[in-house]
Amino acid sequence: MRLTCPSCAATYDVPDALRPARRRIRCSACGMEWVAEPDAPADAAPPAVPPAVPPGVPPGAPLGAPLGAPPPPRPVQGVPPRIVPPSPPPPPRRAGLIAAWIASLVLLAALAGGAWVERASVMKAWPPSARVYKALGGG
Ligand SMILES: [Zn+2]
Repeated sequence: MRLTCPSCAATYDVPDALRPARRRIRCSACGMEWVAEPDAPADAAPPAVPPAVPPGVPPGAPLGAPLGAPPPPRPVQGVPPRIVPPSPPPPPRRAGLIAAWIASLVLLAALAGGAWVERASVMKAWPPSARVYKALGGG
């Protein structure tokens, strides 16, 4: 093992086999005498200095954490939801109905016209119709 004089820091290499558990050492350089402890050798390195912490940073502070996460959207209070009335049903298609009415009127007009034009034949075939034709001025 290595022994170091606490006074002049002179070092001495001493074989472990020759060194007892506890021995009084005398420095040959400065005459300093000290007791070399087997558990604490004189040449032990000083305790390691903990790594310096940068000032202003508390230990354990998270590094790289997001500074300001956007808050979640909050529902607007006090405004009732707008109720949209259902759209009225579309009006039924009357084009077909009107066309049917027009067709019926045209057919009736044609029949009436034909009956009026052929009133002589009609009255001959159906005598009671003569009263109708007479009432209409065609008699
Ligand atoms: Zn010494």
